[in-house]
Amino acid sequence: RSKELGRNSFQLYKPAMNARSLERMVMESKLNKALRNNAFELFYQPKIDASNFKVVGVEALIRWQDIDLGTISPGSFIPLAEELGLIIDLDIWVLNQACKQIKHWLDDGVQFGKVSINISALHLTKGNLVFAVRNALNLWCIPAQLLEIEVTETSFISSMSEAKKVLNALKALDVNIALDDFGTGYSALSYLTQLPIDTLKIDASFIAKIPDEYGNSQIVKAIVALAQSLGLELVAEGVEKEKQLKFLQEIGCNIIQGYFFSKALAASELNQFIVNRKAVFEN
Ligand code: C2E
Ligand code: MG
Ligand code: MG
Ligand code: MG
Repeated sequence: RSKELGRNSFQLYKPAMNARSLERMVMESKLNKALRNNAFELFYQPKIDASNFKVVGVEALIRWQDIDLGTISPGSFIPLAEELGLIIDLDIWVLNQACKQIKHWLDDGVQFGKVSINISALHLTKGNLVFAVRNALNLWCIPAQLLEIEVTETSFISSMSEAKKVLNALKALDVNIALDDFGTGYSALSYLTQLPIDTLKIDASFIAKIPDEYGNSQIVKAIVALAQSLGLELVAEGVEKEKQLKFLQEIGCNIIQGYFFSKALAASELNQFIVNRKAVFEN
């Protein structure tokens, strides 16, 4: 019977309509609604310069609180948004929200350094990111240097020449470019000289194994040397333990992001975090 109803009908009795696809349908509808109803929130995780303990930047990380499902992690809904073709809208929402927050923090004199946002690999060469970034900067009247775009190596695979064009255009606006999860992708090191990259973020999977695992520690040392010789800023992600921090300080990687200092915080909590740190470190 469902065949007669045609291609687009709701095939209630199809055996393939198992628990997983039902769950997906629910998630799809919820994700659509969440986008329309502004149900997302940006949290901000500080990046600390371990040589003076100042906040040098914050990474905007999306959070989704659903009435029925509770907190849904971006690790699960970002891939779904990518599959459903919602990722461009979502990334643009994040971009505008982050720029609005930069404006507020500037007005309030909060010393946040700069704000990084994540752009999905699927988005970089589709849609019109450069146009959206220029618009958002203009709309909120904020300097481009206060915004950083984090991309992953996956963004370059499908079309290196397209990716290069987009990144060069972003760089021409004066936006910072960071390469996220560095070391986990294809790590074709030629990217580093062909693309206008300012910052490398060492992936948390390497940091998790320092200083105890010799091989990993050597890799991290090599990444530090690479960044230094190419004049790139370097950030260590996922720093949780003091021994990791110590090791990174010893080898000259001073910008630290991770639970050791703080998880991602709501904007108002981040204000407080910055105020508290100033009180501790400037007296
Ligand atoms: P990412 O960009 O590599 O972000 C870092 C992730 O590591 C964040 O997870 C952060 O909360 C987590 N993290 C930070 N420090 C530590 C630590 O010390 N220990 C551990 N175990 N985790 C730590 P989160 O927020 O769940 O985000 C996961 C991923 O989802 C992000 O990885 C990013 O790829 C994606 N994502 C998050 N927000 C956005 C967004 O607004 N847009 C897009 N396109 N992707 C996003
Ligand atoms: Mg990131
Ligand atoms: Mg990362
Ligand atoms: Mg990631």
